[in-house]
Amino acid sequence: MKKSRPMAATLAFVAAAGLMLGGCSAPTGAEAGEKKLTFMFRGGEDEKKAYEQAVSQFEKDNGVDVDIIVTTADQYTTKLKAAIAGKQVPDVFYIGPGDVQAYVQNGIVKDITEYVEKSDTIDLDNIWEYGVDSYRFDGKLTGQGAIYALPKDVGPFSFGYNKTMFEKAGIPLPDKDKPYTFDQFVDISKKLTADTNGDGSLDQWGTGLNVQWNLQPFVWSNGGDWLNEDRTKVTVDTPEFAETLQWFADLQNVHGVTPSVAEAQTLDTYQRWMKGEIGFFPIAPWDLSTYQKLGFDWDVIPYPAGKTGKPATWTGTLGIAVSENTQHPEDAVKLVEFLTANKEAQESLVKAGIQIPNLKDMAETWAADTTTKPANKAEFLEIVKDYGRALPGGNTYNAEWYDELFTNIQPVLDGKQTAKDYLKEAQPRMQQFLDAANQQAGIG
Ligand code: CA
Repeated sequence: MKKSRPMAATLAFVAAAGLMLGGCSAPTGAEAGEKKLTFMFRGGEDEKKAYEQAVSQFEKDNGVDVDIIVTTADQYTTKLKAAIAGKQVPDVFYIGPGDVQAYVQNGIVKDITEYVEKSDTIDLDNIWEYGVDSYRFDGKLTGQGAIYALPKDVGPFSFGYNKTMFEKAGIPLPDKDKPYTFDQFVDISKKLTADTNGDGSLDQWGTGLNVQWNLQPFVWSNGGDWLNEDRTKVTVDTPEFAETLQWFADLQNVHGVTPSVAEAQTLDTYQRWMKGEIGFFPIAPWDLSTYQKLGFDWDVIPYPAGKTGKPATWTGTLGIAVSENTQHPEDAVKLVEFLTANKEAQESLVKAGIQIPNLKDMAETWAADTTTKPANKAEFLEIVKDYGRALPGGNTYNAEWYDELFTNIQPVLDGKQTAKDYLKEAQPRMQQFLDAANQQAGIG
């Protein structure tokens, strides 16, 4: 991971509308009959290393040659689109949940249900349902039906705090079983925001959150949501939603508990968290390798909870799919199964600090070890099992309607427009994009 925090390996909204999806694609690379696969994936340095290692183990175990194409998270979508347009679709490649509908309808990804169900190397009951269900599609809705990919990972987006900062300030540590209310969170954040060396400028802040990746937990726990249940109506123009967005903006504009725009420009809040200047900050599984090296103690807690009293957050995921036109479907599915569920492969990926185990039994053992950071690993599993949700843009044909909310949100964050006014004018624009997406998907 580099500077901007949620370059989550787990976030993949390929803008389906912009894809040149040509129906059929030619076999890639090898001649039919030769045991050779191409595998295209993405990730940071630690992740790249860990996956290359896993793939070479697969090659040894199965006598299959795998050509790796690896990109950064930023470049992946562009390169995959180019491969699809050039009819060079890799045999095996990453997709996000938001890509499933478009890729199925355009014949890019293979229905692997039969292979997986008759497989004796994978036990679906021991893999997080959320992970598998994210790649099911019944022709109308995602989340149910045939399997088009298996999870590379599930990424519970959790919340953390700088324990050392709390101790220095003499503030009681957060209770992992009892989320803060919004008001309590503001109060503690005020106490943490301080000029510690007395030179007249602040040196540490309560928090510093990116609206695009952190608004969801607060909106959901306050009783709001982005869409109605059948995903046909955008519901951001509700009092619950407005109240939450206003509260989020007020963290800076009213309470001053986050770095100002100018301060965040000098050094972004991710870097400030790493330097020990931020009290509360999101923590995801893909951060764990980097955060082992932090110069302070830290742990994971539930997000503060709004009116519902129950914490919420999102769980990301990336899937591994097989090309519809692969010449080696059985070997390709075998590689997918290996990366998703092979015990040794999972152990090494978890050890690399880039993800939590895909296997439920392994995850329980991992979480029970409270001697390594974070001590409260169990929170990640709670999210996956209980209170995590899919990102709103991941369940629809494309995410343009969802992205629209953030496009013009800055005046709200700057205190120049109220959340209520903004949401009232954004809703119709978002609704238009959603209608178009649903029309493309053949819904509504
Ligand atoms: Ca100072």
